[in-house]
Amino acid sequence: MKVLIIDDEKSIRTILSEMVQHWGYEVVLAADGESAWKIFQVINEPIIVLLDWVMPGIDGVELCRRLKQSEKTAHTYVIILTAKRSDVEDVVIGFDAGADDFVTKPIDPRELSCRLSVGRRILTYQHDLEQRNATLQETTRVMENVMRELQVVNGKLKELSLEDELTGIPNRRSLENYLAREWWHALREKEALTFIMVDVDFFKFYNDTYGHPAGDECLKKVAAILAENVKRSSDIITRYGGEEFAIVLHATDSAGGQKVAEKLRLAVESLAILNKASKVSPYVTISLGIATIIPDINSSYETLKKEADDALYQAKREGRNRWVAIDVGRGACSVKG
Ligand code: GH3
Ligand code: MG
Ligand code: MG
Repeated sequence: MKVLIIDDEKSIRTILSEMVQHWGYEVVLAADGESAWKIFQVINEPIIVLLDWVMPGIDGVELCRRLKQSEKTAHTYVIILTAKRSDVEDVVIGFDAGADDFVTKPIDPRELSCRLSVGRRILTYQHDLEQRNATLQETTRVMENVMRELQVVNGKLKELSLEDELTGIPNRRSLENYLAREWWHALREKEALTFIMVDVDFFKFYNDTYGHPAGDECLKKVAAILAENVKRSSDIITRYGGEEFAIVLHATDSAGGQKVAEKLRLAVESLAILNKASKVSPYVTISLGIATIIPDINSSYETLKKEADDALYQAKREGRNRWVAIDVGRGACSVKG
């Protein structure tokens, strides 16, 4: 470790230099504050300074103040050398200026050796702390990057997810994939395809009455009972959004769709989830719109969805807790009140 000795008296510089070198330190000498300040500008490591208090030009206290105020030299360990045993006033001035320690002239080598050891220990601790801090900052930076990447990946996974987060049943993305596949299958096989839109009745009132968390619980129960009643592996029940569900029934005609719809309507009603704000039942109920088609090359499954939506709208208009079925090819419409 380097020790910079700053004293205007050559004899003192020489004696101190010999002692300090003898104890294994590397010595740098300066005869006044000005030249010491210049040396500090080219030193890039923490060092110990033995600093004479009384010097022409910049005196010890002033230099000490400058060192402690500059970011580059603030960690210098400063031991001020005073000519006689300082009175309290001087000690306060020195410590106020940022001095770390004092040694009184004439210097006792044993005392100076001890005080230098303390300085070396403190600078070493300080250096260790700075390194640990730097490592910690680097670790934090790396962790922050990892977290950011994780968020991006999670976002992408969510986009790719085929499952509805609240109810655990397939989501709308699943529906679109499934419907496209089923459409082409039905077109090829000239089979009927049935699509059912389900909507919970008076659900806004339910939320308003029992609170949003209770609303969520209700949707979970409704989803579960719907899923329980659409069992065929070739069929799919999905959460379409909000309190709406969509069902695709493979190779199923309108009569088959109506049977499923009635079973679902009854199943939800028999859950007996109280909805005192409902105008049609003491319990939570659903309305359903059923659309059936045998696809041809000129139609698309968007037509099927639109017809199911229209049927649902009609079921709502006609009082809710019921289904309406539209057989697209036949232009027939059945209603269950
Ligand atoms: P209608 O009988 O005509 O279907 O009336 P409605 O009140 O059920 O229909 P509306 O479209 O007015 O309200 C739907 C409500 O569903 C409003 C919305 O806050 C609620 N909702 C949608 N998604 C969720 C959800 O994930 N959780 C809860 N708790 N509520 C939801
Ligand atoms: Mg709705
Ligand atoms: Mg509704």
